Amino acid sequence: MTVEIVNPATGLVVYRHELLPADEVEQRLAAAATAFPLWAASSLQERGSVLRAIAAQLRTRKDDLQRAMTSEMGKLKVEALAEVEKCAQACDYYADHAADYLKPQLIDTEAQRSYVRYEPIGCVFAVMPWNFPIWQVFRFLAPAFMAGNVAVLKHASNVPQCADLILAVCRDGGLPEGVFDVLHINNEQAAEVLRDKRVKAVTLTGSERAGRSIAANAGDQLKKCVMELGGSDAFVVLDDADLEKAVAAAVKSRFDNSGQTCIAAKRFIVVDAIADAFVEKFVAAAAQRVYGDPQDEKTTLAPMARADLREELHKQVQSSIAKGAKLLLGGEPVAGTHAGYPATILDLVVPGMPAYEEELFGPVAAILRVRDEDEALRVANDTTFGLGGSVWSGDPVRGEAMAKRLECGAAFVNAIVKSDVRLPFGGSKRSGFGRELADHGIHEFMNIKTVYVA
Ligand code: NDP
Repeated sequence: MTVEIVNPATGLVVYRHELLPADEVEQRLAAAATAFPLWAASSLQERGSVLRAIAAQLRTRKDDLQRAMTSEMGKLKVEALAEVEKCAQACDYYADHAADYLKPQLIDTEAQRSYVRYEPIGCVFAVMPWNFPIWQVFRFLAPAFMAGNVAVLKHASNVPQCADLILAVCRDGGLPEGVFDVLHINNEQAAEVLRDKRVKAVTLTGSERAGRSIAANAGDQLKKCVMELGGSDAFVVLDDADLEKAVAAAVKSRFDNSGQTCIAAKRFIVVDAIADAFVEKFVAAAAQRVYGDPQDEKTTLAPMARADLREELHKQVQSSIAKGAKLLLGGEPVAGTHAGYPATILDLVVPGMPAYEEELFGPVAAILRVRDEDEALRVANDTTFGLGGSVWSGDPVRGEAMAKRLECGAAFVNAIVKSDVRLPFGGSKRSGFGRELADHGIHEFMNIKTVYVA
């Protein structure tokens, strides 16, 4: 079957590719199984050298990677280049820190010796999304390689060239045959791969819908899974917040990557005392984000990744307005054959509206006005999601007190929620489970083995 890739900035088909036939999927899984014992037996130093060489390859090929991202899913050039550098830094980071994360943990008991050692588990299946098509993959791969695991990737079907370039930089960095491969397969084939005995675990970054299906399949096979799903992060602005800083951060968090970020601020929860002032500044600043060609360095708002995603978002906006939300900015798709959607702000968002209940995966901000701090906390937690959240206050102690009570995997005070290789990343509630990055991330796909010598 042929898959056509449409450039979301032009509406034109830029690439066509074939799905992998079953015998080639089989060959790649067999190669992964053969590669695993050798890779697992290599030293951390050897694996670290390969990872550093991959980081160098990423930097060398940053322009190719940027062009692939921009043409396949519409990312702004400047954002795409920053994404590649972030991946290279993650590779260097794990090359530097894995020995520390993986050293045996001695535990004092009555035994002569008792300790925990970390052992790789084999082939991990990675199912990845299009929104950060290089970063989401390396965020998993860098620790997986250092752990001694091997991996096969099913990337989102709209970013096949990104997937092929990731494979190329890994091979050119000296990663042995079979340690990593790309499977251009559909979701039915993915289910088969997950059932295969040689595949030991699965990691997904994507929607709740994909999460339910893959986690159910993993559960049926009793295989470990990590789920990084959607979010509807609260951005709480208290009455003593520095509004200039909060507004600049709000615009960046909501409209970078055309709003298609799991940890973007999506629900702006503002207390009445400063609500009008915040909203006025927010609308003025967001209006500066203008849709354009993502390859043009002057563009400040990228297209959405696909026309169908834009349609879905627009329905959520229209339905929220029909239920009483007040449109302050944007709200109509940008005319043309592309997937452009303008910076959009909805005020007076309340329960029952899609903008309150659902994830808005695009450049649309929802303003939720609340009486005071207590109501802000209640509304912030009134969601099925639990990925991240941020609190803005002139008093960091006050901000931190609220941050601790947010039901989510990452709470930031006076800063935008972001992923950082040094800090664990992941969600609670329906945003998923398991952690990536830092030491927690490298241990997710390892056998944590107790050794006890009496
Ligand atoms: P999906 O969740 O469908 O896609 C993410 C990845 O999962 C892709 O590789 C996709 O493959 C794969 N996938 C989906 N369903 C299955 C399945 N049943 N079995 C195996 N693999 C599967 O995201 P969409 O592209 O449809 O985006 C829709 C929504 O998902 C967004 O609006 C947003 O809410 C959310 N999302 C969240 C992300 C995050 O970072 N948390 C990232 C991307 C999307 P394929 O492309 O071939 O279908």
